[in-house]
Amino acid sequence: MRIDILTLFPEMCDRVLSESVIGRARAAGLVDLRCHNIRDYTKDKHNRVDDTPYGGGMGMVMQTQPIYDCYMSIWRDGEQPACPPETAAPSPAEDGEEAPPDTPKPHLIYLSPKGRVLTQQRVVELAACDRLVLLCGHYEGVDQRVLDEIVDEEISIGDYVLTGGELPALVLTDAVCRMLPGVLADTACFTDESHFAGLLEYPHYTRPAQWHGVEVPEVLLSGHHANIEKWRREASLRITLEKRPDLLEKAELDKKDKAFLDALRTRRGEEA
Ligand code: SAM
Repeated sequence: MRIDILTLFPEMCDRVLSESVIGRARAAGLVDLRCHNIRDYTKDKHNRVDDTPYGGGMGMVMQTQPIYDCYMSIWRDGEQPACPPETAAPSPAEDGEEAPPDTPKPHLIYLSPKGRVLTQQRVVELAACDRLVLLCGHYEGVDQRVLDEIVDEEISIGDYVLTGGELPALVLTDAVCRMLPGVLADTACFTDESHFAGLLEYPHYTRPAQWHGVEVPEVLLSGHHANIEKWRREASLRITLEKRPDLLEKAELDKKDKAFLDALRTRRGEEA
């Protein structure tokens, strides 16, 4: 998979993506991550990429031209198939501009607090794409015209506002890359985790077996795999009911799960 990040701070992105699990995956050639400086594409003689907003108001707005040219240069570079669905129509070239290439349009995601909030389900879908391009805004944001013309999808990482799209782009890249074959030791590393199957994960323990007077649950020391699985499933259900009961509405639950949750709710009702 290839991910291109369009940003005013490529070193910041590159640095983070060179560390730990993702850095190793990159070094092993499991994923191709490229950070592009939007400023390199400006045609402004003072190297500017932003200007004051029409209509007045605070802050600066990122201009259309450097973003458009940066994206088109990435589109021209490489034959990788795009990720469906392609929503944005290829744009007609203006005077002095090259026409869009014949290759499929690479799926462009604008990281934005106005976007759909990222979920593990969307991460799984995006991990099936061959190629993604991520656009990081900064300052007040980006001139709406270039967003309307080239962006396929807007993604938010939560209902709060950050200073720039770099951290959201890194969050998305990390979440997607860890799903790619070979990046984690085993698929169980992510299928067992919170949100993958709609529940929160069970708690973990490691040595020592007793710490500050608290013992590790006995079943985890028993070596009895079926009992350990049962304990983990029930712990997962209990934690989800306590912390995120909303998730249970969509989670895949079998008869045993439902009976366990009913018993828990009844006990809670009795205790209240
Ligand atoms: N004026 C914008 C608004 O009120 O919607 C906020 C602009 S924000 C200060 C600058 C940039 O940070 C945005 O263009 C976007 O790329 C990024 N950003 C901020 N918060 C975000 C979030 N929750 N999710 C994704 N991107 C975010």
